[in-house]
Amino acid sequence: MIPFNKPYFTGLETTYIKEAVSSGKISGDGIFSKKCHNFFEQKFQFSKVLLTTSCTDALEMAAILIDLKPGDEVIMPSYTFVSTANAFVLRGAKIIFADSHEDHPGIDESKIESLITEKTKAIVPVHYAGVACDMDFIMSVATKYNLFVIEDAAQAIDSYYKGKPLGSFGHLAAFSFHETKNIISGEGGLLVVNDERFMKRAEIIREKGTNRSAFFRGEVDKYGWVDVGSSFLPSDIIAAFLYAQLENLDTIQTRRKEIWKRYDDAFRGHLDVKFGVRLPYLPDSATNNAHMYYLVVQNAKERKALLAYLKKENILSVFHYLSLHKSKYYEPFHDNRNLVQSDHYSNCLIRLPLYYELTENEQKHIVDTIFAFYKGI
Ligand SMILES: *Cc1c(COP(=O)(O)O)cnc(C)c1O
Repeated sequence: MIPFNKPYFTGLETTYIKEAVSSGKISGDGIFSKKCHNFFEQKFQFSKVLLTTSCTDALEMAAILIDLKPGDEVIMPSYTFVSTANAFVLRGAKIIFADSHEDHPGIDESKIESLITEKTKAIVPVHYAGVACDMDFIMSVATKYNLFVIEDAAQAIDSYYKGKPLGSFGHLAAFSFHETKNIISGEGGLLVVNDERFMKRAEIIREKGTNRSAFFRGEVDKYGWVDVGSSFLPSDIIAAFLYAQLENLDTIQTRRKEIWKRYDDAFRGHLDVKFGVRLPYLPDSATNNAHMYYLVVQNAKERKALLAYLKKENILSVFHYLSLHKSKYYEPFHDNRNLVQSDHYSNCLIRLPLYYELTENEQKHIVDTIFAFYKGI
């Protein structure tokens, strides 16, 4: 069976974990957490980063940081992962879901302004498949209405918009190192704080509402309870694992991009032209970090048949995201607007296997199988 995803280990993870263990300090913010923080600050010029136990946690921290109150409204795409919305719903926010673009699953920026009311507090763009939203446009709308922007950059490590790394545009941004992402630590995440106003408080919220981080730096002589918060920081064992991955970021990215390009070279000009299958679209302003290769087929029936056909050939492809505005939990709160594109992606998008160790032969088998399916219908 060719799995949909296979976590890649660089080989140094266990070495670094042993180092972390023998250092005698395995709680949060140890040696490896610092190495990871430095890595992100140097490689991507993020001014302040904090490792978290997941992207979900980083988003929850963002919701606390912007002082979200019950009844506040947050605008985001409906075609996204549950956590994008749930992190804000936990603080009592009402989610105003926006539709996706016709030519790619990212939020349709042109719809945002009409959804803004006096209760709107934030916009949460999701860089779907690591492909940048139009951040110039989103930031200008946010400035005009005095809103916060929190980038859900879960899939967007090492991806750029007009030459600048994703995660550096919003007031805050959240990355994921879940084992299905490009760079992994099993579970794990990162909060990027771009707005200085949030830098001190982010540390406090992450440390159970205490000023322990400042205490460890010797800035205060004792630490105590100063704000709300939770335990959002990962153990240094997780950071050790993550650091082994980060050191190999370029190798991992190069490989993923090769695999991505092989799919694209095989399909473009054929599947799209002859069979009406839509292929990933990249705006000129965005780079490709090869997080995902997806196909958008014409209808749900075709998708079901293609997935079954692939499975019969021992290939595990998947789809994801059911429009959140139609989810069991959120449908009763949604304002009845139809989100046609979001539903279309929910019904018609397929993700193909893409992982470091996918061999050329395996990939050829996947490509051949997909062509065989289309020639047969
Ligand atoms: C993976 C993902 C998340 C959640 O990340 P975790 O680290 O698992 O919490 C959130 N948003 C998007 C768009 C994702 O792809």
